[in-house]
Amino acid sequence: MNLQAHAGPQVLDMLSEIAGNVWWSWSPEALDLFERLDPAAFARSRNNPLATLADPDPEVLAQASFRERVERVYSEFRTDLAAPLDPGSPRVAYFCMEYALHESLPLYSGGLGVLAGDHLKSASDLGIPLVAVGLFLRDGYFTQYFDEVGRQQDRSDALETGSSPLVRTVGPDGELARVRVHLGDTEVTVGSWTVQVGRTTLHLLDLDEEGTPAELRDLTHRLYQGGMEARIRKEIVLGIGGVRLLRALGLSPDVYHMNEGHCAFLTLELLREELEAGLDRDDAVAKVRSRTVFTTHTPVPAGHDRFDYELFEASFGSMARSLGIPVPELMDLGRIHPGDPGEPFNMTVLGMRMARSSNGVSQLHGAVSRHMWHDLWPGRPVEEVPVGHVTNGVHLATWTSRAASEFLTTHLGDWKANQMEADFWARARNLPDELLWACRRSLREAFLDFAHRRAGEQTLRQTPRLDPDTLTIGFARRFATYKRAPLLFRDLPAAIELISDDTRPLQLVFAGKAHPDDEGGKDLIQELHEVTRHPDVNGRVVFLEDYDMAIGRAMVAGCDVWLNNPRRPMEASGTSGQKVAVHGGLNLAIADGWWPEGYNGSNGWMIGEDESSAHLSEEEQDDRDARLLLETLRAEVIPTFYEQDEWGIPVRWVARMKEAMATLPHAFSSHRMVRDYRDTIYLRHGA
Ligand SMILES: *Cc1c(COP(=O)(O)O)cnc(C)c1O
Repeated sequence: MNLQAHAGPQVLDMLSEIAGNVWWSWSPEALDLFERLDPAAFARSRNNPLATLADPDPEVLAQASFRERVERVYSEFRTDLAAPLDPGSPRVAYFCMEYALHESLPLYSGGLGVLAGDHLKSASDLGIPLVAVGLFLRDGYFTQYFDEVGRQQDRSDALETGSSPLVRTVGPDGELARVRVHLGDTEVTVGSWTVQVGRTTLHLLDLDEEGTPAELRDLTHRLYQGGMEARIRKEIVLGIGGVRLLRALGLSPDVYHMNEGHCAFLTLELLREELEAGLDRDDAVAKVRSRTVFTTHTPVPAGHDRFDYELFEASFGSMARSLGIPVPELMDLGRIHPGDPGEPFNMTVLGMRMARSSNGVSQLHGAVSRHMWHDLWPGRPVEEVPVGHVTNGVHLATWTSRAASEFLTTHLGDWKANQMEADFWARARNLPDELLWACRRSLREAFLDFAHRRAGEQTLRQTPRLDPDTLTIGFARRFATYKRAPLLFRDLPAAIELISDDTRPLQLVFAGKAHPDDEGGKDLIQELHEVTRHPDVNGRVVFLEDYDMAIGRAMVAGCDVWLNNPRRPMEASGTSGQKVAVHGGLNLAIADGWWPEGYNGSNGWMIGEDESSAHLSEEEQDDRDARLLLETLRAEVIPTFYEQDEWGIPVRWVARMKEAMATLPHAFSSHRMVRDYRDTIYLRHGA
């Protein structure tokens, strides 16, 4: 009997089983196996494991070594899935508008989605019983490309469900789970898709159902697009449809976590349930509050959805009637000043008012939020406004490159099992300089190869000249104007002088998307494209097209310095800088978001930390920060990088790398974050 012919299908069975669970997104070994099955299909599909199963390479399947590796990964997969759940944790329902799990599932626009995806993965790893709810954004956010003048254009690429890990959600009765929701006076059917994220289950609501009027079907196709009416409707589907879906699945979690205001209508559905069960209004509100918690994610005013009376009435009139609550009173739940007829309905106010706990996402953002929402608690001193914070973190297994992971395992040990231990990471201080520096160079070189390839393939082709021994700075994020992407080029001649220095040059790689309606953000992208073409820049500044998780992973692994220069205090947390320390990358950042908590004086650089910026105009703040940035580069960052000893090692730079590795990964991992949510938010104290 031919054993090899026998081995093929079994190997494929194991791989298909793994492919159905995005657990693979944090197993570089698993992803590598899929890539080997069909490298071309893998690349074409944004690294989608399922795409490689259609036509796998029979020679690879027949290799004994391949089979052994599949067996090893499969056994790890089964062990992870079978581990017992944390019996001390409440059962959590987590609601969010977007989730970033992997580049092949484009259900996200940026930081909020990344944070939510990382939350689900850590909940799975830590065994927190958590079910998540979102929207099935078939067309995702958008695919970005640049036209010949460097202006952002957008395209939408629909997700192929057939080659995705999404499956239709099935209820306890074995039938497809569907719920009904009112959008104004129209009752629509909401379907659902399920994706397994390790042990965590994510349900994605979908309006594209038979029986739904044609003009409403594509409402849930795209993220954050369409006018206010589309927006409130999506949020009704998410909040109200989401709770109804959980009920249809027989679930009644202990805690509902509203991750940002988009999902806060879920409190109205919980309220409806309690009123229907016979509670009076005060008791019903108290009961809802006892089970809901709220996280706010931005101090930017436009980040908080507001709906005017007409739209709210048109959307909630029928619900108000069924609750027996007049529309103005229902509207008051979302007003800072109830009874003020001119005040719009604000989703953050609804979330904060109806939740037993509210928090921001860094220490600084907690303080900023207490000021921002002070009026919701009139009569309290601002320090006593009950909005705390849980600082964001990142899912290290997702964001650590395979090469860095192997380096850490070889030299420090099982870093995944010890990722929350400060003592474990402290041992990074003992890493031999020459090994760490060699690792850094090879990470940089691998990334520069990636950047050259991508820049040469994209719509607006570039021909960068990036050098593997040159100090490499990365900047990648949404192009919201407050993030000030081109800040370094405010004094263009001074910046060009640094970049084009003969002996100690700089090279920069940028990536990021502006919202399709944000012409200001698109201007910033175009401005950076002009810099890339400046004759004296000579290929040392590159802009990569279509920022996604794959570009993000490559950049955080390869850059020596991660630049973040938002207008303080607008960056609630930021998380991209938290991904670099495991790769020996250093943060150079404004004292905003998470960085004041992370910076210790010797693990990177922090600028603009004094409080005086509160009195400056935006213009003055930008001038000052741009000057500080140039000064810090000139006086500290560049000399430290190029000041190398007789063996070619920049000793002071490497000391900073070790300090970053020793102090940051454990404190800013999403495992620490989810554990904090469990201990201080999900568990009810004094109840
Ligand atoms: C980490 C990450 C973000 C979040 O970055 P910020 O620092 O919060 O701006 C956004 N998008 C992608 C693709 C990421 O990987």
